Amino acid sequence: MASELNGILHILDQEEKYKEQSVLIGCTESRVPQFALDLGKIEKARTESVLKGTFVDLRKAFFLLDGKDAPLLSKAQGLLRWHSTHLYCSRTGRRTHKNMSGSKRICSSEEITYYPQVSPVIIVLVSDGAHCLLARQKLFPPGMYSALAGFCDIGN
Ligand SMILES: [Zn+2]
Repeated sequence: MASELNGILHILDQEEKYKEQSVLIGCTESRVPQFALDLGKIEKARTESVLKGTFVDLRKAFFLLDGKDAPLLSKAQGLLRWHSTHLYCSRTGRRTHKNMSGSKRICSSEEITYYPQVSPVIIVLVSDGAHCLLARQKLFPPGMYSALAGFCDIGN
């Protein structure tokens, strides 16, 4: 997997150090580590051409995945987004640095460690056995509905 990624980065003219931005998102059943890397920072058209694929909206991508890949993609997106939005220390304003696996960020000036926020969530499927109650938001694409879901935040 790492050699495959190195080959892709080479073809895309990206330095190998780009993969240092990757984060560990899990391991396969045979204990092969799985990493995520945001390829969206590389030229989109060229990346699609090299990988013979197409970037799609993340919500739509979930409909294209099988059951075991969806949680992995969700974890990857959440962790990569957390890293991209926590580049600076909230106490000192200095740059934070990702540890090798991507499980935390550290401010070197005061040895402050930041961990990704985990928010409790809930999703329920209301059913009478034959029918389900679903809802939709205005921003959903046509035909998309969801079970009822929400999250807990401080003060809520
Ligand atoms: Zn700091």
